[in-house]
Amino acid sequence: MCLICVELQRDKLTSKEARRNLGESYKTLEEEHRLEVLKLIWKKEDEENVESTAPSEEGEWRWDFSESTD
Ligand SMILES: [Zn+2]
Repeated sequence: MCLICVELQRDKLTSKEARRNLGESYKTLEEEHRLEVLKLIWKKEDEENVESTAPSEEGEWRWDFSESTD
């Protein structure tokens, strides 16, 4: 485990920041561990995507609702 893993798991880093940090410390990490960090980043990106799509779905539903009662 490195600092990037620790901070990702504590939600101290966004996936973007983690990718940048990985780029900076790439050479200091074991090849196997680079993949471990990447897996955490992918997981984080999934979580961020879920969060960003949820409100827009709710907004569309509300828009449809107000349209039908008008
Ligand atoms: Zn690590």
